[in-house]
Amino acid sequence: MKDPLMQTYGRQDIAFVRGEGAWLVDEQGNRYLDALSGLGVVALGHANPVVAKTLTDQSTHLLHTSNLYRIPAQEKLAAALAEISGMDNMFFGNSGAEANECAIKIARLFGKHRGVEEPTIIVTEASFHGRTLATLTATGSRKVHAGFEPLVNGFVRVPFDDVEAVRQIAAHSNNIVAVMVEPIQGEAGIRVPDDNYLKDLRAICDDHNWLLILDEVQSGNARTGTYFCYQQSGILPDLVTTAKGLGNGFPIGVCLARGEAAEIFKPGNHGSTFGGNPLACSVGLTVVNEIKNNNIADRARELGDRMQENFRKRLGGLNNVKDIRGKGLMLGIELDKNCTELVGKALARGLLINVTSENVIRLLPPLIITDEEADQICNIVCSLIEEA
Ligand SMILES: *Cc1c(COP(=O)(O)O)cnc(C)c1O
Repeated sequence: MKDPLMQTYGRQDIAFVRGEGAWLVDEQGNRYLDALSGLGVVALGHANPVVAKTLTDQSTHLLHTSNLYRIPAQEKLAAALAEISGMDNMFFGNSGAEANECAIKIARLFGKHRGVEEPTIIVTEASFHGRTLATLTATGSRKVHAGFEPLVNGFVRVPFDDVEAVRQIAAHSNNIVAVMVEPIQGEAGIRVPDDNYLKDLRAICDDHNWLLILDEVQSGNARTGTYFCYQQSGILPDLVTTAKGLGNGFPIGVCLARGEAAEIFKPGNHGSTFGGNPLACSVGLTVVNEIKNNNIADRARELGDRMQENFRKRLGGLNNVKDIRGKGLMLGIELDKNCTELVGKALARGLLINVTSENVIRLLPPLIITDEEADQICNIVCSLIEEA
């Protein structure tokens, strides 16, 4: 029989039937330690009982109404996120790409209000912002673009972590309305910029009246040791997007705005049928409260430090290890060659990992792992690298 699924993914030949915390169980009953969390999504662990309770309770009351009516759960989640982030207001969608589309549309309208005919957003090399036409254009990867031309106009690209390149553009272009970056590049291989990067970008944006857009789809929701990663830089963006960890597996994305950016959209400018529905927002609110009440961000920082220290001790002297980096539980180990085969080798040892950018082992474990589970991940990853 022909495969009824489109061939969009290179999949491992394994299917999981249930999960518990940091563990997944396959169809044969084998257990796997999950150091990927469904790509940074299931941050509070599989089958989290508090999230499950919200899902079941809310689903017996109301799944969906419409954004034509008030949605109290949406209002509560927005208030909670505004307080945590220092942002003014927000728009809910169902994914990271949708959240970024929202930010891009706000930046364009912001430009139009100032008389910029062709509003242009500065984006970076190797970035990842999603798979819709605008967000794949913003993405800095030839592979993601290939075949989908004509791409969307209105983006210029600079190297990541290169403030001078942004200054150069500032001196020569009148169409720029925003700079859009990930505080830590995820897909590119957990690339951590200089400590002053966001601060410097903030200053340039202020000087030129541009919006600073941060894509925290992956780095948000406590993963890097604070609720949002930018909170470690002492700045506020004009727009910040997040998604992955916000629903612990329930699809939800959000674009938060501040100041002038928060006043751009008027009724009719943007919308979503599903975005911000009672079920998604009840789950989102539960996730945000769980993160806050259990100091999950602090725990992520502590676990990340522990794991990086473990990796440095055991891998520091190896020739095939080029770098060990990350913040909180957003970790990358860069090897000196393509190491995609390690995904299958780890699976055979009961560990789920990811390799991105061909030679970077990416670890995004649930933020609720124990010290022992963290050590177990380190042990298996280290032996795989020692044998590589
Ligand atoms: C995953 C990701 C996206 C896209 O999110 P989707 O929910 O897959 O649309 C955008 N930006 C970053 C930084 C991501 O990691």
